[in-house]
Amino acid sequence: CGIVGYIGHRDAYPVVLKGLQRLEYRGYDSAGIALYDGEELKLCKTKGKVADLKEKLESSISTKGNVGIGHTRWATHGVPNDVNSHPHYSNSGNLVIIHNGIIENYDALKKELKTRGYTFESDTDTEVLVNLIEDVSNKEGVKLGKAVQIALNQTVGAYAIAVFDKRKPNEIVVARLGSPLAIGVGEDEFFIASDASPFIEYTNNAIYLEDGEMAVVRRDKGVKVRKIKDDSLVDPYIQELQL
Ligand code: GLU
Repeated sequence: CGIVGYIGHRDAYPVVLKGLQRLEYRGYDSAGIALYDGEELKLCKTKGKVADLKEKLESSISTKGNVGIGHTRWATHGVPNDVNSHPHYSNSGNLVIIHNGIIENYDALKKELKTRGYTFESDTDTEVLVNLIEDVSNKEGVKLGKAVQIALNQTVGAYAIAVFDKRKPNEIVVARLGSPLAIGVGEDEFFIASDASPFIEYTNNAIYLEDGEMAVVRRDKGVKVRKIKDDSLVDPYIQELQL
C-alpha cells in the first residue's frame, strides 16, 4: 500500500502514475487517482493493478491537472472493490482523501456523522475520516489544515493521509502516525509519497515527517510542519537524498 501526491506546475498525472508503479512492491489490491485541473476534481479508481487503473482512467477522465493524489490500497475495512478503493470524496464533493492505515474508532465516528446527515458509499474507515474533516471544517469554520488536525485528534489508529480541497487548490494537507510519509521539495513544486522513490528523479530534497506530525504543503509558500497533538510548529529538516 502506498500514497503519492503532486502539486506544482507539471502535469500531475504522469508523476502520480509512475509514483504508484514505484510503490507497487509494497503490495496492494486496488488503486486510484484524483486530479484537479483548476475546474473539476476528477477521480478514477479500481480493484486490481496500477496498469488496470491506467487503462480505466485514460479512457474515462481527462488526465489534465497540476494537482494529483494517488493510492494503492491494502484493504482493512471493506472488501477490495472499486467503491472501497481510494481516493474518497467527502459528501460535498469538495474534499478528497487518500489513506494508508486504520481508523480504529471509525464505527462510533460514522454513527455520529450519520445522525448529522452524512451518507456513505463505501465500507471504509477512510470515508468516515474525510467526512469528519468536512464536518469539522463546516462546524468550526477553520482552514483545511486546522480541520484535519481537529479531526485527527478525534481518531484512534494509524495513518498516512493526504487531503485536498478544491476550494483551496494551492495546498495539500498531509499527516502521519504509524505509516511513513515523505515530502519532496522542488522549486515551486512538491511531491508526497510513502517513500522517496516516486520523486527522487525530480528532486533530492526531502522532508520525512515524524510520527504525530502533519504538514500543509503550499505550492506558493512551501511546507509548514506541526505536531498534530499540541499544534506546536516544527522546523522541518530537509534531508539531501543520495542519488
Ligand atoms: N483502512 C483503509 C481501507 O481499508 C486503508 C487501507 C490501506 O492502508 O491501504 O480502505
